[in-house]
Amino acid sequence: MNLLLNDHATEKTTSHAVDPERSALMAKIGSRDTKPELLVRKAAHAAGLRFRLQDRRLPGKPDLSFPSRKLAMFVHGCFWHRHPGCKATRTPKSRIPFWEAKFQSNVERDRRVETQLEALGWKVIVIWECEARKHAHLMDVIERIKAMPPQKARPQAKLVKDTAGQQPKRGRIS
Ligand SMILES: [Zn+2]
Repeated sequence: MNLLLNDHATEKTTSHAVDPERSALMAKIGSRDTKPELLVRKAAHAAGLRFRLQDRRLPGKPDLSFPSRKLAMFVHGCFWHRHPGCKATRTPKSRIPFWEAKFQSNVERDRRVETQLEALGWKVIVIWECEARKHAHLMDVIERIKAMPPQKARPQAKLVKDTAGQQPKRGRIS
């Protein structure tokens, strides 16, 4: 299930020329522990949700993950991850092939990670940086997460056995 929360996709795209070095630098500074990510963490925490940060055991190390709901959340920078229709998603004017390859690789990786998570039975939510900065939007996302019923925990060993469909052999000793 794709729960991509993207109600800004209809916003007009503007294509102002921007200085690529400056854009890259600004985006790089925010690559980890960015302000939007902190805003999301704070909101989730304040709502009493329990979550993990960048769990390495999950594909793509989601920024936040909610194990009881099997929900993975990414806080994506609009520039690097290409928020559709967002004004922050502009392409620098020079070295266009370089940027396009870079962006394509990022977007493809995001899709791959999402597919991997979904194959493991996880739901995926993306909050775009520009959305995380809008308090009302952020609260709406948090409310939606709270509304998702936590799943019953199942012992990991049993889950593995069920998935593999293997039954212990009986009545025969070799
Ligand atoms: Zn955006």
